[in-house]
Amino acid sequence: MPFRALGLEAKILRAVTEAGYTEPTPIQSAAIPPIIAGHDLIGIAQTGTGKTAAFTLPILTKLAAQPGQRRGAKVLVIAPTRELVVQIEENVRAYARHLPLMVATVFGGVGEQPQIRALRAGTDVVIACPGRLLDLMGQRCADFSQLKFLVLDEADRMLDMGFLPDIRRIVQQLPRQRQTLMFSATLSKEIESLTHEFQRAPKVIQIGRRANPAQTVTQLVYEVPKHLKTPLLFHLLQDPQMNMVLVFSRMKHGADRIARQLEQKGVRCATLHSNRSQNQRLRALKDFKDGAVRVLVATDIAARGIDVDGISHVVNYDFPMQPEDYVHRIGRTGRAHAVGDAISFVTPEDHGELRALERFIGRGLVRKKAEGFNYSQPVPAFNPADQPRRFPHGPNPRPGQNRPLPPGQPRHPRGQGGPPRPEHSGRPRWRRGGFFRRQGR
Ligand code: AMP
Repeated sequence: MPFRALGLEAKILRAVTEAGYTEPTPIQSAAIPPIIAGHDLIGIAQTGTGKTAAFTLPILTKLAAQPGQRRGAKVLVIAPTRELVVQIEENVRAYARHLPLMVATVFGGVGEQPQIRALRAGTDVVIACPGRLLDLMGQRCADFSQLKFLVLDEADRMLDMGFLPDIRRIVQQLPRQRQTLMFSATLSKEIESLTHEFQRAPKVIQIGRRANPAQTVTQLVYEVPKHLKTPLLFHLLQDPQMNMVLVFSRMKHGADRIARQLEQKGVRCATLHSNRSQNQRLRALKDFKDGAVRVLVATDIAARGIDVDGISHVVNYDFPMQPEDYVHRIGRTGRAHAVGDAISFVTPEDHGELRALERFIGRGLVRKKAEGFNYSQPVPAFNPADQPRRFPHGPNPRPGQNRPLPPGQPRHPRGQGGPPRPEHSGRPRWRRGGFFRRQGR
């Protein structure tokens, strides 16, 4: 079915053609007509299936049909992370480029004032993370009295991240007469109860099987001892086809360590995790998109919903704890109509999680050994540089060493930070006498 047959407005069709889309993806064909007809909708689709366009195109069509309305936000899209908000904004701006609409984003980690000004200027489409939006609504900066459409994107992830109370408080302040669209990668009981709370007789659209990773992704599982994960990653990166690689780490310091070790071997890397500032995160994404770095090492939360065209491989350096995370992670490659590989490293400790995943996706994954890789390398000696940094001013001290001090601060002549304690008998202080007397008893 071509885009023309879906009932989209001419200016939006033009923008879609300019974006280079030739035909709608399955979720777009299924979701666009009922949204234009005015139904609430719950879309179960993996990331990368084109769901942003699936809700944006019909909403813009309906907005274009009612020009000259009163000032105030007509569309509110809520998404779990800043990266996702920025990405949805880029898409909305591209699809609305021939329409006179104002678009604003709202997310934490940056100054409030530009966001407040944009909201007060009477923006039409607001794309927001729940926390900051609630703050600004509390300051009465946003006028949602004209709201016609509410979109909850990546609803399952917002529940995982504990945003439900915030979302409830936001939705309570919105007009009840509205169209509510919800998108989620999986349909869990919690999501079903959300639909009862926020929607009216929603149409359910499910693309592919529940929790089924995109068909275009080749899934490979490499068994590897824990200490050989980085050497194996480096070995795999010798393949020039791995030209745009997203590596998932479970921990933030793990992401830093992987990037550091790869950089030492001459592989250009960037990292994306929540300890990095908003600007550092946007910079890392930009470098990755532009090809300035070949590998982006990320944690699940930070990489939520990131959409980078042409990711050739996703590497689960640490196996995901939840099967849903696996589906989300490997959805980063093989997006829309493209193909890609998902590689998972499995250590002996991960076998339980691997079996849980196989039950979840309903098929077995072949465990392989990487060709040409030396599995008999010894465990490397302990390296304190690989441990998480506990002090911002320098490396972790070895046992018996003093903690690092900020530059310029002189060390106390008698040791760490003050005079040494007097020798004592080894009894606890309250038994050494004087303790209760000093307390006034
Ligand atoms: P999403 O699932 O919304 O994050 O979209 C994934 C990617 O698919 C984005 O980069 C879109 O630009 C792209 N995309 C969306 N719809 C289409 C389409 N009909 N044809 C080709 N690419 C598309």
